[in-house]
Amino acid sequence: MADNKKAVVSGDSYIRAHLKNMGSYTAILPFEVLSVQLGRKPEEIIKLDANENPYGPPPEVSKALGALKFPHVYPDAECRQLRAGLESYIGLESQHLIVGCGAYELLDLIMRCVLDPNDKIVDCPPTFPMYQFGTTLHAGQVIEVPRKPDFSLDLERISEAVSKDKPKCIILASPNNPDGSLVTDEALLRILELPILVVLDEAYIEFSGMESRIKWVKKHENLIVLRTFSKVAGLAGLRVGYGAFPLSMIDYFRKAKQPFSASVAAQAAACAALQNASYLEKVKNALIKERRRMYELLKGVPFLKPFPSYANFLLCEVAPGKGAKQLKDELARMGIVIRYYGDLNTFVRITVGKPEHTDALMECLRRLAN
Ligand code: PMP
Repeated sequence: MADNKKAVVSGDSYIRAHLKNMGSYTAILPFEVLSVQLGRKPEEIIKLDANENPYGPPPEVSKALGALKFPHVYPDAECRQLRAGLESYIGLESQHLIVGCGAYELLDLIMRCVLDPNDKIVDCPPTFPMYQFGTTLHAGQVIEVPRKPDFSLDLERISEAVSKDKPKCIILASPNNPDGSLVTDEALLRILELPILVVLDEAYIEFSGMESRIKWVKKHENLIVLRTFSKVAGLAGLRVGYGAFPLSMIDYFRKAKQPFSASVAAQAAACAALQNASYLEKVKNALIKERRRMYELLKGVPFLKPFPSYANFLLCEVAPGKGAKQLKDELARMGIVIRYYGDLNTFVRITVGKPEHTDALMECLRRLAN
């Protein structure tokens, strides 16, 4: 018999090499954890760090969740009812749609299906860090084409990178996280002309007042558009997102997707949210109105420079004398949580909340200015 005696090896020797060499994704903390960290009850914390929707979903959602008939049975892997409901909400036939566990899952799915090891993805920072992280996780390479100082895309350099590095894919958020700027039609059309798959992440599109490009997947073979129930529908905790794909590629993504990633609860909640379109409209309008008010108020803070935004958050540059990290820490001690980025370290991003959240934030900023 062959000598199959096992040598003692450390468990990490089984892990793929590229995974060992990469950093971790820093996830946002939920109320329960913040509550312990800040020594405050969850209801005493104003959470403006993750672009969640403080109004939550329409009342139909908790009714639907309380009345789930078949939680013991696996969900519909094809999410038929939800995709049918989405048809009229977005104006696109359901055969173009895949529903997943948030836009996060769909980004991961796209990378899994598109990237061979060492394939390249163009990333235009500052933007949603998940694009870089996911590319590295899937053993791809990131080609960075930084945005211009006004956060618009550098189309010349994107075009050069496509010719030189032959990347497979570019991921663009519109509105972009963290600054809230839009990709213009002209820029998108120019990029779609390039030999590259374009993933357009429209997680925040409802707050822009602009029409979604989701229907463009019918006429552009190299376009995928992602959307989510996390933001305007207030369902971040239930994890439902969807992607629209050209018919020529969608079957491969369906084949590769985890079949049951959108749970029975997630599908029921999203279907229920779609039943109350007027609630979604009302909440969207309230947040847009509050964004305008908050922008004007933040402009008056001596150590902050807010940037105009089409999303439910405002990026602010913090004056060197104050310091962005210090500001984030000081506000956290006062019970207001905002987003600070280690690699964008002179900025903070503040989610638009209810009017009373803005008022509390302004009161704290006033105290910090003195
Ligand atoms: N895209 C962008 C640009 C985001 O900022 C976020 C979340 N912050 C997501 C996607 C994730 O969306 P979901 O909750 O649907 O996974």
